[in-house]
Amino acid sequence: MNPLLEMHDIDAGHDRLQVLWQVGLHIDEGETVVLLGANGAGKTTLLRTLVGLHPPWAGSIRFAGEDIARMPSARRIRAGIAYMSELGVFPDLSIADNLALGGYFLPAAERRAQQQAMFARFPDLARRPRAAAGSLSGGQRKMLGVAKALMGRPRLLVMDEPSAGLSPKFVDEVIGILRQAGGDGLAMLIAEQNVRFLDLADRGVVLDGGRVAAAGPVAALREDDAVRRAYFGML
Ligand code: ATP
Repeated sequence: MNPLLEMHDIDAGHDRLQVLWQVGLHIDEGETVVLLGANGAGKTTLLRTLVGLHPPWAGSIRFAGEDIARMPSARRIRAGIAYMSELGVFPDLSIADNLALGGYFLPAAERRAQQQAMFARFPDLARRPRAAAGSLSGGQRKMLGVAKALMGRPRLLVMDEPSAGLSPKFVDEVIGILRQAGGDGLAMLIAEQNVRFLDLADRGVVLDGGRVAAAGPVAALREDDAVRRAYFGML
């Protein structure tokens, strides 16, 4: 089986500062991959490169068999790549409008149907659809971010630190939401510093100083000395 996503030898940076060095990554259809790395390891730069918000200096990106390295981000969304940034939602807009934005490229009738599907799937969001997203709790806000990203029926959901700013209780909630979202063949790439997200994942990739330091099935990563030292406070 060909992977859904293949990134090879990605170099990228900001101005003249190189941040990513020959980074490679692949994700199969329906697979969940967690991208671990400390602050500044380059996770956000890699995700933004994947979704088309940051031009790579070198390397290739293939999605569903198509070369997308130079494709504008709006086309990548239509091709099936959804991105949830650390911010996730627009706090001043209503819950319903945030969802509508997530499916902005759908025909109006389909957008409304998808909105209803999201309200059915996440009933907490259906209670006060006209309320500002900023009035939601931290966990519910992430739920809205996920629902907004799912509006366009993506094949790959790319998320930047869904646990950022959340208390441990809400982290559990978000992990539950993502476990639920991961059905239906959806593939996910989740950048995180919180190792608890490995519980969700089929595989993990560890970025260190902009390079892939370790990658593999979660069980193997948990046994990797460097990973244990860096993330589990062991050894
Ligand atoms: P964090 O968890 O803090 O978001 P990260 O792993 O996502 O970390 P990046 O945000 O990709 O890391 O940052 C990698 C490096 O690139 C850091 O040294 C950062 O200071 C630098 N950097 C990020 N964005 C810019 C920018 N717009 N201009 C210049 N340097 C940047």
